[in-house]
Amino acid sequence: MAPMLERFVSSGKGNGLRTTTRIKRGELVYSAEPLACCVSNKLARDVCHHCFTRCETLLRCSQCKMARYCNITCQKQAWSSHKRECKCLQSLLPRIPTDSVRLAARLIFALLSPSKSSSEELYTLEEHESHLNSMSEQKKQGLSQLASMLELYLQQEVPDLAQEALPPSCREPLSLLAKVTCNCFTISDGELQEIGVGLYPSLSLLNHDCRPNCVMVFVGTKLQLRAVRDVNPEEELTISYVETLSLTEARQRQLEDQYHFTCHCQHCDTQDKDGLMLSGKESTWCPLKEALPRLEGLKAELDWQALLQGCSHLLSTVGSDVPDQNLYKLRMTDMALDASIHLGHWEEAAEYGEKTLQVYSQYYPDPHPVHGVQLMRVGKLQHYLEHIEDALDTFKQAYQIIKPTHGDNHPMTTDLLMRMEECRTEMVQQSSSKH
Ligand SMILES: [Zn+2]
Ligand SMILES: [Zn+2]
Ligand SMILES: [Zn+2]
Repeated sequence: MAPMLERFVSSGKGNGLRTTTRIKRGELVYSAEPLACCVSNKLARDVCHHCFTRCETLLRCSQCKMARYCNITCQKQAWSSHKRECKCLQSLLPRIPTDSVRLAARLIFALLSPSKSSSEELYTLEEHESHLNSMSEQKKQGLSQLASMLELYLQQEVPDLAQEALPPSCREPLSLLAKVTCNCFTISDGELQEIGVGLYPSLSLLNHDCRPNCVMVFVGTKLQLRAVRDVNPEEELTISYVETLSLTEARQRQLEDQYHFTCHCQHCDTQDKDGLMLSGKESTWCPLKEALPRLEGLKAELDWQALLQGCSHLLSTVGSDVPDQNLYKLRMTDMALDASIHLGHWEEAAEYGEKTLQVYSQYYPDPHPVHGVQLMRVGKLQHYLEHIEDALDTFKQAYQIIKPTHGDNHPMTTDLLMRMEECRTEMVQQSSSKH
């Protein structure tokens, strides 16, 4: 743990994390391996269960047939944390428990193994919130079902949690699952695709702000927390628990449902971006808003053809009267971008992508991974289409964001620098062939 952090009681928010020193924008504030983590079921076939790298061909654990690895080395290194899980997985085949149940079990195994300890953490599992008291009956019922599943899953290895040398709240499946679901972090890859979930106990102290001063980025399973603004000593460190590019009401609802608190950040109190997100006449953007759920459904079904048709039709008809800043138009343009990339319609994809960039910079005043990744995507399209000058310009803008959010040594940053170099070389070649 870097000495620059300390826990404190943040007024109105309970425990929090703050800095003892001045932190510069882009500085690495904290870096940690998870106490426990697991690949999400959705990607169980595509990602190495040890290093979380995406791989075309993966070795499969011959016993549970669920865990997969890039190579023998990853498989060997994973064995100490997979051994007990493997038996549990086999006992339930062909059923696979949900991500939170698998994560809770992995947490139990980690706590029972002497090599892993959470003693250096600033925040113990005992202190983690479970929010069981403020939870709706419906949600509690859902958790109870998961708790029964966990008991069934653990049967072979840990027949009775209550008898184990565990922190008291981890001996009780319901409170354990409540803590795991309230405190786990989504582990994402460079493209910000969700690949798994993990527990990083000290970082559960971080409170939420809709315009946070820190962001989290992952390298494999390692979490890195970086400042996106200069932070003064004793200032609270914050992250955003939810997508910040949404209306105040939607953010607040999600925070209440999922994290059981009402956000009173400055961004919420002033609702400062809501006007911009709803720009244009309501009668013109209403059809876009109403069509979104159906289009999101097509996206979930990976029906790219129908998605692109739906988006491009609406955007070129009613959408042409709506300002680009409008949130519903932006979401639709983003989906059109996704669909055209999947269909290999590169020209179209670049046009949609370029349309979003101006808007993204208005909505993300501080460096944000979402903005950086969007710039990268568009830059790659421009580069592929041989719009070299545009591509270089877009990559440069991406670098201004990725450098502070991901740091100098992140694979994304090195990839970006390489692409910029390629563009420069190609520009020199082009100009010399003209003479
Ligand atoms: Zn691996
Ligand atoms: Zn296995
Ligand atoms: Zn807020």
